[in-house]
Amino acid sequence: MAGVPPQTHEEAQHEFAETLSGFTAGDKPEYADYSRCIHCGLCLNACPTYRLWHNEADSPRGRIRQMALIDQGRMELGKGFVTHIDRCLDCRACETACPSGVEYGKLVEQSRAQIERNYKRPRASRAIRNFVYRRLLVEPNRIARMARIVRFYQRSGLETVARGSGLLRLMGLQQRAALLPRIDRDFFYSRLGQTFPARGERRARVAFFAGCIAQVTFTALNDATIRVLQANGCEVVVPDGQVCCGALAAHAGVRDVARGLARKNLEVFLREPFDAIITNAAGCGSTLKEYTHLLEEGAPPEPEEAHGPVGNRAGLADSAAEFVKKTRDVTEFLADLGLSAPLRETKLRVTYQDSCHLLHGQKIREAPRKLIRAVPGVEFLEMPLSDHCCGSAGVYNVTETAASMELLGDKMQHARATGATAIVTANPGCILQLRAGAKLHGTRQEVMHVVELLDRALA
Ligand code: SF4
Ligand code: SF4
Repeated sequence: MAGVPPQTHEEAQHEFAETLSGFTAGDKPEYADYSRCIHCGLCLNACPTYRLWHNEADSPRGRIRQMALIDQGRMELGKGFVTHIDRCLDCRACETACPSGVEYGKLVEQSRAQIERNYKRPRASRAIRNFVYRRLLVEPNRIARMARIVRFYQRSGLETVARGSGLLRLMGLQQRAALLPRIDRDFFYSRLGQTFPARGERRARVAFFAGCIAQVTFTALNDATIRVLQANGCEVVVPDGQVCCGALAAHAGVRDVARGLARKNLEVFLREPFDAIITNAAGCGSTLKEYTHLLEEGAPPEPEEAHGPVGNRAGLADSAAEFVKKTRDVTEFLADLGLSAPLRETKLRVTYQDSCHLLHGQKIREAPRKLIRAVPGVEFLEMPLSDHCCGSAGVYNVTETAASMELLGDKMQHARATGATAIVTANPGCILQLRAGAKLHGTRQEVMHVVELLDRALA
């Protein structure tokens, strides 16, 4: 037929596979996305798992090839493929390295959604995943209940006994136990629904996104974020009814849950006009800024959920676009707004670890460095390979502990070599990982968020 280019063999296979599978858009890698890979290999050395194992199947290029083969029905979606995809940190360093614009994060998340629908994991793994992604993270009350149990374990002496008796080592849980966050006494939930006035002249009115697990483990960080925003002329509203951003579920391929959470957050955060929606968690921010992609794919909202401004497909797309436009990482927002609060001299040798989802996911590199350098008395020491993942990667340090610990070992070597006494970063997950690293490797370095450094310096 004149004007229509002939179909390639791969395209024909792809079309056939789609016809057979009756797929849902967004729940498997798309030809238009994976075919952008030109197999150049420039991403290989940027990839932490390739650097660890030198195995093509554990590189971005190798994983994309496997996705394509599965999509074209030329490879079985079995244990081997699942293992290579599970081992990916979803750090997106390959996206930054790629000259062809491959959106690898999107591909791996869609691949995990495909696995979630088509692959039967072992019974214990299914039970844990169902509990965490479908029951725990979606319900703040359950997070609070679980946190109280963990807090009892940590504060009652049970944890000390488990450590001292060698039980954790015997069960192979010693390293995982070191990663368990300390549970706060005062949960952040009590701040939901509150408004915190600007100090001095009001320069902006913002909504604060407080996170899910962060509300029981990072209350101090959330409070510090609010104080720093207030001190810089922002009125901060903490909308009640907000839920988890859905990042952990989306990264695990549980996209139906992530979409449900995204719809709820749109309703909550678009109830009133705000100049910005602020997050202090790079992992959350990266997903919040991708709500348009998350919500444009997949089935339209179920009829029983079709209510409010996000109740129909067009309304949903508009709302998601508005939400994404307003969402800002706190470092990005403050660096753009400009610090107006006076800062006192704070003598500290500081290095900075790039959070993958800030650097590779949101392409924010300079804003946190600019804020750190703005603190008088701080000596900023750039860390070699600060753009290499610390191995935290959501729940990767729990699911792939050995690989995560190797990456952490490298990271702590570089952090130590800077001579800094404090490591500053921009994501709660990285903070937990680096704190565990400082302890395990005896570097004696304090680990904090950029806004905690600013908070300390507030006059
Ligand atoms: S996301 Fe990270 S771990 Fe996964 S393939 Fe890309 S660079 Fe490698
Ligand atoms: S750099 Fe991009 S185009 Fe090259 S192999 Fe990696 S993903 Fe493919």
